[in-house]
Amino acid sequence: MIKIQNKQDCCGCSACVQRCPKHCISMKEDEEGFLYPVVDETLCIDCGLCEKVCPIINRPEKLPVMKVLAVKNRNEEERMASSSGGVFIAFAKKVIEQNGVVFGAVFDGNWEVKHTYSETLDGVKPMMGSKYVQSRIGESFSQAERFLKEGRKVLFTGSPCQITALHNYLRKDYPNLLSVDFLCHGVPSPGVWRKYLEEMSSFSAFKAAGKNSVLSSSIKSVPVITGIEFRDKTLHGWKKYSFVVRGSAPKADKNTVLLSDIHYDNPYMKGFLADVYLRPSCYHCKCKNGVSHSDLTIADYWGINQLMPDFDDDKGVGLVLLNTDKGKAVFDTLDMEVRVSSLSDAQRFNGGFKEDVKMHPKHNLFFKRFVDYRNLAELIERTVHKSLYRIAKRKIKNIIKKVFVQLKH
Ligand SMILES: Cc1cc2nc3c(=O)[nH]c(=O)nc-3n(C[C@H](O)[C@H](O)[C@H](O)COP(=O)(O)OP(=O)(O)OC[C@H]3O[C@@H](n4cnc5c(N)ncnc54)[C@H](O)[C@@H]3O)c2cc1C
Ligand code: SF4
Ligand code: SF4
Ligand code: SF4
Repeated sequence: MIKIQNKQDCCGCSACVQRCPKHCISMKEDEEGFLYPVVDETLCIDCGLCEKVCPIINRPEKLPVMKVLAVKNRNEEERMASSSGGVFIAFAKKVIEQNGVVFGAVFDGNWEVKHTYSETLDGVKPMMGSKYVQSRIGESFSQAERFLKEGRKVLFTGSPCQITALHNYLRKDYPNLLSVDFLCHGVPSPGVWRKYLEEMSSFSAFKAAGKNSVLSSSIKSVPVITGIEFRDKTLHGWKKYSFVVRGSAPKADKNTVLLSDIHYDNPYMKGFLADVYLRPSCYHCKCKNGVSHSDLTIADYWGINQLMPDFDDDKGVGLVLLNTDKGKAVFDTLDMEVRVSSLSDAQRFNGGFKEDVKMHPKHNLFFKRFVDYRNLAELIERTVHKSLYRIAKRKIKNIIKKVFVQLKH
């Protein structure tokens, strides 16, 4: 039976919940806002199936990467609507064309993030774009298994731990499954996101959002949110991506920009990127770098402006790691602009390869205050605030690092 002794040993994938034959495991949110399994021991028959599917207890061997590519979707509209190179939508279209089913993360009616599936292109579009919140997997693994057994093609996208869990759950290699994960910095707390949303939903909080926030002056009353993008490229480009909230309000257009922050100015993004409220398992990730056995890994090709400046137009370049023959075969059918690269180049600029992301020193203090603190944006600002001494120390460290890198090359 699943017993979580240490929170870092559960990535929240829900594979155990879906596999339990007695339906006696449920996911409950803890005080940091993450879901963990809780077993009703009175119903448990001690069959051990929950432990068998757990990606932390049963971790597959690492597989090496076959090929590393820099990629751009030739359809510029699709690339602009995606976070990176628009690789996900190209795969999704291919699978839908073949009467397949696509699984991915979407916002629900409350702007929280969940996994779902779609059999149509319209249903796939909301999956586009990174949502920097842990998604609730729900019943997705068992739904995918049903489609696979019917012989339908299935594209399943998710974090490396979700894909590791999917493969453990399925227990066999389905030729009609294409699994795609992404390089994963870590997932922020759904509870923190919910609180940030509550603050955003009141107009006064829009005003207090970030010191450089751009707010529509035409909005005079509480708006209804109609769209949220963590990675908008249309306002400041791909590298300076923005966190954008669109909405409607009386006497304003339906898609008025209510809030637009370059990522490093937005309080929620600042806390995420400073590793203040990632899931405990993300600080000791056991599923990255070949463990998930995904057919492909997709990511941002950060640093492409230095490595291949002529390929970078600031509209997004994707990094694609081809991990299996099946992944390569499907990728070869896509109409993409492709440059061959190397793992060492890709690793130089991308924190997503790191398995031991360092917990922010004020992580515990943040969560101690989180429940009662009335202004979350202010709490995040206070948590990530760096003294001048720390800023100077970091700058000197970076200069020394750069000099070393230049000497090496
Ligand atoms: C939490 C998180 C952390 C990431 N960290 C890094 C990183 O450190 N380095 C890096 O290079 N890239 C990272 N990425 C991946 C990157 O942001 C892009 O998602 C990826 O490059 C694919 O871009 P795209 O343009 O091909 O497609 P897009 O259309 O942008 O990709 C959307 C895909 O991502 C999936 N997705 C979106 N949000 C979630 C979520 N919360 N949980 C599970 N799946 C989700 C969707 O289902 C869909 O398959 C991260 C993504 C997420 C969600
Ligand atoms: S041991 Fe079996 S019955 Fe008990 S919780 Fe795990 S899967 Fe369910
Ligand atoms: S990692 Fe997944 S399978 Fe393992 S205990 Fe946590 S939710 Fe269950
Ligand atoms: S960092 Fe690791 S544990 Fe955290 S979401 Fe990503 S793959 Fe899962």
